[in-house]
Amino acid sequence: MEIYDEAELWSRDHIEQTQLIRLKSTIKQARKSPFYRARLDEAGIGPDTITSLDDIRKIPFTTKQDLRDQYPMGLVTVPKSEIVRMHCSSGTTGSPVAICHTANDLNWWSDLMARCMYMVGVRKDDVFQNMSGYGLFTGGLGIHYGAERLGCLTIPAGAGNTKRQIKLATDFHTTVAHILPSYALILGERLREMGFNPEEFPLRIALVGAEPYTEEFRKRLEKLFNMKVYNSYGLSEMNGPGVGFECLEQAGLHIWEDAYYPEIVDPETGEPVPDGVIGELVMTSLCRQGMPILRYRTKDLTRFLPGECSCTRKHRRMDRILGRADDMFIVKGVNIYPMQIEQVIMTFDEVGKNYLIQLENDGFGDVMRVKVEIREEYFVEDMRSLHKIQQKIARALKDEILVTPQVELVESNSIPLSEGKAVRVQDLRIKK
Ligand code: ADP
Ligand code: ZN
Repeated sequence: MEIYDEAELWSRDHIEQTQLIRLKSTIKQARKSPFYRARLDEAGIGPDTITSLDDIRKIPFTTKQDLRDQYPMGLVTVPKSEIVRMHCSSGTTGSPVAICHTANDLNWWSDLMARCMYMVGVRKDDVFQNMSGYGLFTGGLGIHYGAERLGCLTIPAGAGNTKRQIKLATDFHTTVAHILPSYALILGERLREMGFNPEEFPLRIALVGAEPYTEEFRKRLEKLFNMKVYNSYGLSEMNGPGVGFECLEQAGLHIWEDAYYPEIVDPETGEPVPDGVIGELVMTSLCRQGMPILRYRTKDLTRFLPGECSCTRKHRRMDRILGRADDMFIVKGVNIYPMQIEQVIMTFDEVGKNYLIQLENDGFGDVMRVKVEIREEYFVEDMRSLHKIQQKIARALKDEILVTPQVELVESNSIPLSEGKAVRVQDLRIKK
């Protein structure tokens, strides 16, 4: 197996020994911020408290609110002159937080990202097109620097402007791209409209992440473009992309444990859950100096996959993200995640590139409407067959979520596209 970094082949023992050393120095570094000094003192954590990795549980969690309260530079642990870049989370769920990096932090991050890309077969002679937004969003520069480190010809195309994306990819023969899932299907459809066959598009690999998507979605994308799709997970608080990445096996995302310490906890109690059980991912940075973060509650729901990966890397794998704890909505007493809906509708060939879940209250109770874009070729058919498609989707959804939704079939391009990350749920219910 070709590797980018020897850390990929470390044994469990070696990984854990290194983690403990790095955890201790991270705590020491974190204490340089007044916030963590007070937090750790309050919890009675001194220089000798942590003697094993399990001791990490003595450290209080850090929440998004903590990061907001410390905005802009309250958690920085080096002189300001040492900070060379800052990023913000995209603010999908509220006001942004700022993350500050030293030159060395950026070096680590680029290396981790390069490691991810190398793992799925990206090499120096690939042409890499980054179709995600640049600016404060980490999916821009974060992935860009990884691609350059590998030596790829790197095209910073940015988000949107599909016509230009297609021109660049055709002219420069782009073989690898970074695409947000919600954008990938749009690109495919636009290609078709312009008379291209997406299968003949030069892409051989796509790194797809930044928002949740299902296995069904991946399959659809791989078939559409005749390419391999690898799931890329990260969050600004832990640098950005490069935290978790699928290997060639496509069987869960390896978390680079030499750089991060992952935990999965019960979101209610904060206690660890056994492997295989879904909970909230909690992450500690082990290599960041400018702004270390301890036990960050990501709100992302996933599980550790038990057992070893056939690729032989020992870094633990997590399942694809089921959704954010905040994404869950309740209809008629049933807890539902948007991805449960996607998983069902993406299996229908008739379904196009976009969908939207709308929640309303009709005065008697909750109504859940699923608006589904239908591909052009199915829209020309008669009412009866449209009705059949609608019923088929509604029945399949009911089987999955146990609530019967109103399924509304709409024409291609009638659901508005959001800038940046996709909005899958609109809650129009009057809050009591
Ligand atoms: P924001 O939290 O404002 O969206 P970020 O840009 O830092 O800010 O995004 C990080 C979040 O994006 C993660 O916490 C997770 O919810 C989501 N995310 C990132 N990658 C993936 C992925 N591969 N699958 C599912 N969700 C992802
Ligand atoms: Zn693997």
